[in-house]
Amino acid sequence: MIVQECDYSKEYRQWITCPVCGFEYTHIGLVEIIDHEASANDEYGTRGNQVRIHMTCEADHEFAFIVAHNKGNTFIGAKPRNI
Ligand SMILES: [Zn+2]
Repeated sequence: MIVQECDYSKEYRQWITCPVCGFEYTHIGLVEIIDHEASANDEYGTRGNQVRIHMTCEADHEFAFIVAHNKGNTFIGAKPRNI
């Protein structure tokens, strides 16, 4: 699971957890907006446009939290970085 209920914040109700180890201590890095042609051919690729937030957890795993759009549907997900 990438999103868990947060038990101490009333403003932000859910955590984004690491998709590799499940750790809830994660950090936001670079934010990118990727068009559909570029996203189809890279390591986090899907079809469609993406907003991609590069993140790390405190166990040093790298991943991207992605908001993607394709053919009228919008998805969220977290994908580990391919090494
Ligand atoms: Zn991790």
